[in-house]
Formats: sequence, C-alpha cells, structure tokens
Amino acid sequence: MTTVSFTACSTVSGADLDVPLVDGRSVRYANFDYAASAPALEAVTDAVRNLLPYYASVHRGAGYASRVSTQAYENARNAVGEFVNARDADVVVFTRNTTDSLNLLARCVPGDTVVLDIEHHATLLPWHGRRVVSAADTIDETCQRLVAELWSKPAALLAVTGASNVTGEVLPLARLARIAHECGARICVDAAQLAPHRSIDIADLGVDYVAFSGHKLYAPFGAGVLVGNRDWLDAADPYLAGGGAVSNVRVDETVWACAPARHEGGTPNVLGAVALAAACTALGTLDSSGHETALTELLKDGLAAVPGVSFLRIFDDVEDSVGIVSFTVDGYEPGHVAAYLSAEHGIGVRDGRFCAHPLLAKLGVPDGAVRASIGLGTSSEDVERLVGAVSALVGGVS
Ligand code: PLP
Repeated sequence: MTTVSFTACSTVSGADLDVPLVDGRSVRYANFDYAASAPALEAVTDAVRNLLPYYASVHRGAGYASRVSTQAYENARNAVGEFVNARDADVVVFTRNTTDSLNLLARCVPGDTVVLDIEHHATLLPWHGRRVVSAADTIDETCQRLVAELWSKPAALLAVTGASNVTGEVLPLARLARIAHECGARICVDAAQLAPHRSIDIADLGVDYVAFSGHKLYAPFGAGVLVGNRDWLDAADPYLAGGGAVSNVRVDETVWACAPARHEGGTPNVLGAVALAAACTALGTLDSSGHETALTELLKDGLAAVPGVSFLRIFDDVEDSVGIVSFTVDGYEPGHVAAYLSAEHGIGVRDGRFCAHPLLAKLGVPDGAVRASIGLGTSSEDVERLVGAVSALVGGVS
C-alpha cells in the first residue's frame, strides 16, 4: 500500500493514544470513529486556552473580561457564517448540536416538512408535519419521487442530509435545492457529516438552512449551529424562553428579541462557540479531501478482498462520498467484529444501526453493520491494520 497521511495540521486527543489489548499488550489506538466525534484540532484547543483567562458571561457585563468574551462570541458567529458563506438575510444561531439545530428549525417551519427514509434520526424525527418519501435505488428516481410528493401537496421544507452517516454518500445538494424551490419549498441540509469533509457554500448551492455539530468538526462537545434565513426564525416563538431571548419584559407583556438572541435563551456556551468557530477557520484553510479519498479507496479495496465482506450503499448512481465505509462480515455479528477489533487490535470502529434504523432496515441489515470512518488523523498504516485485522478474523489473507 502507498503511504498516505495528512500532515498539514495536527490533531490532538487520541493521536498518540496507547490502548490496552486483551492479551495485556498495548498498541497505538487506530481511530476509525471520526463520524461519531472527531478529536480536537490544536487550533481549537489553542483558541479555547486563549479565551479561558477572559472567561465571563457574554452580553451582560461591562467589565473587560465580559467585553472580551462577548467579542469572541460574536466573532465566532461571524467565522461560522463565513465558513458556509452565509448571505445577508441569514442568521447564525448557536445551539448544542445538529439535533438541537434541527429541532429548533422544526419549531419555526410554517408547514409540512418532507424527508427521505434514509436519514439520521435527527433529520427524520423532529418535524411536526412530517411526510416521508422512500428513497429509490438511484438518486434520479429519488428526485422524481420528491418532486411528485412536493407537487402533490405543498410543503414548507425539504430536509436532507448532506452526506449519509451510514454510507458516506454525498447528496446532490444544488439539484435538491432547485427541486425544493421549484416546488415552493425551502431546503435544510443536515451537514453533520458533510461539514467535516467538504466546504459548504450555502449561497452557491441555494441551500436555505444548514445545521452541523462542533464535535464532529474537530471541536469539543456541546456546541452546534443552525444557519439560514432569519425570517422564519424571527417569526417563531423563542426556542428557550428566558433571559437573553428578550428585549423587554413586563409582568404582563414580553417583547422577544430577534434571532439569534431569540433562540439563545440563557447563558450561552461561549467556549463551545469559539471552539467550533476555530475548527471552521482551521478546516477552511485545509484541503483534506484528497487525503480522505485516497484512504477511503484503500480501505474499500482492502476490505473488498476479504471473503464475506459486503458494503452498504444507498444509491447506484452516486459516485461522491466522504470517508465513511459501513460493512457486514458474513457469519459475524457487527458487535462481535467491533469488539474483536478493539480488544485484539486496538482499533475503534462503530457498530449498530447508527441512529438510522429505517435506512438499515431498507438496506436489508436490520441488525446493523460495522462502520469505519476516516478523518484527518487517519494514515494508510491505520487502514492496513484494519484490513489486516478483518482478514485475520475471517481467516483470509491480510
Ligand atoms: N445528522 C447526521 C448525519 C449525523 O451523523 C449525526 C450524528 O451522528 C447527527 C445528525 C446528530 O448529531 P448530534 O448528535 O451532534 O446532534
């Protein structure tokens, strides 16, 4: 195998972690679980460390530390807006994660929302007027089904994933945005898996709303964003009623603030927002797609040669994908494969149904699969270890 590693930027937490094996030895951890949460970048930990001395509540204090923290928080908002090329009419709302962002948007949608049955539960479940379209084997046929659904009855929103958290397949967002708009709907993209791998230009794509999480973007847990057209957000009830979400309160009358403050009630997660923005800025300067594509190909080629391995795939006509490979191994429970890789090889993968139960059932694996996901810290040596370990499990050649 050729050697592939990404050196333009270092990751921390887990990069050089030694983990114990079942036989008492320890080995360097091979992390293939980036799609769940990615280790923090050094640029992210630096940003947090720099702000910590000024740790203070934002938008509430006149003291120097409060002013520094407030500025850092608003700068973070601007950095996230730049990361997705937000337009003048857009607003950046800080949330806890993608799930939170989509639940916030669900409170604001003035009508039905159409979703596909291939979605992560965060995109599948939050909507009040939810209509589910069954995805076909091809994206062409799936688009036709979406058009038919959107024409049959008006909907306010089409909510789709940018990249599948199960198969890594990247959906044609500009095309889906056109379909939504031609049918009088808006489009929201769940970019939880897309944002860590690709630049997202919502203006260019014609996407109305985008949501993603800091912890999948090489930042810590606890901060996410919803970015998009402010009109629905300004018209909706506040997501969390309380301090910070108001411009004036009398006992018998409340005047709510406009977005983003309207939906950021309570003391915000300033460090989380700053960390997320630092990740956006760092990723905005990197082009990691070549590295990830090369490793994904190595991984797929290697696993394809192992007897009994089958890959999960949704569409026959989608070529583009991010570094996520889900597979089953004939005769082995996914949980067994994952436990074996961890205990005997120090390799971390995920197994199960990946918060996408309808999709796993649709793909004929209702009991789940194994998912290996690639990130900035993955090297070809890691890929060799994973392929070798799966080969050893089934007794094939490595
Ligand atoms: N959407 C997709 C495609 C995901 O992969 C995930 C997490 O795995 C989510 C949404 C939910 O993200 P979070 O748990 O950060 O809210």
